[in-house]
Amino acid sequence: MLINIHTHTRKNIGLEIINSKEELETPFSYGVGPFELNNFVFDEKITKNNNCICIGEIGLDKIIQININEQIKNFIKQLKYAEKLNIPVIIHCVKAFNELIQINHEIRPNQPWIIHGFRKTNLLKNLLKEEFYISIGTAILYDEKLQEALKTIPLNKLFLETDNDEYHTIYEVYQKVASIKEISLLDLELTIYNNFKTVFKKWEIG
Ligand SMILES: [Zn+2]
Repeated sequence: MLINIHTHTRKNIGLEIINSKEELETPFSYGVGPFELNNFVFDEKITKNNNCICIGEIGLDKIIQININEQIKNFIKQLKYAEKLNIPVIIHCVKAFNELIQINHEIRPNQPWIIHGFRKTNLLKNLLKEEFYISIGTAILYDEKLQEALKTIPLNKLFLETDNDEYHTIYEVYQKVASIKEISLLDLELTIYNNFKTVFKKWEIG
């Protein structure tokens, strides 16, 4: 089974974790991202839904016009809430990895944190040292630096996603990753499935 851990649009390929602001009939992630702080308030009620299997995407973004301290405050609040609920977190991080690592050291979470849409190949070693999971998106289809970096990402730390890419499918991502990792598509499917079961425990119960 193909697992797409972060997408904004349903394509009905394998198991898709839809990033959503409302409760869904299928597995979804819920959170208020840094770019949404002006429009949404975190609603704990939504996380009580059995299908809400992770918090996200949430994080830090230094390109947008929202005050970084405000972002950090909201980010930490939701990270702590994920700890309380015992569910993992999908993290959006743009140009704020120092802050992210510092927050990781302060909170020392028990729950897995997944860096989604990973592109910052020069930071890979540091992020793996922090024990973050790394989620690779459709950039892997063309980004040669990312293709090279992928070779060094341990398979047990890897997730795959399409995010908001309308033109490519999770199947294409799996195919590309399998060829770079020099494993069969089936082995990759089993690996990601095992990672998913390990990290997204609420899905197994629900
Ligand atoms: Zn996204």
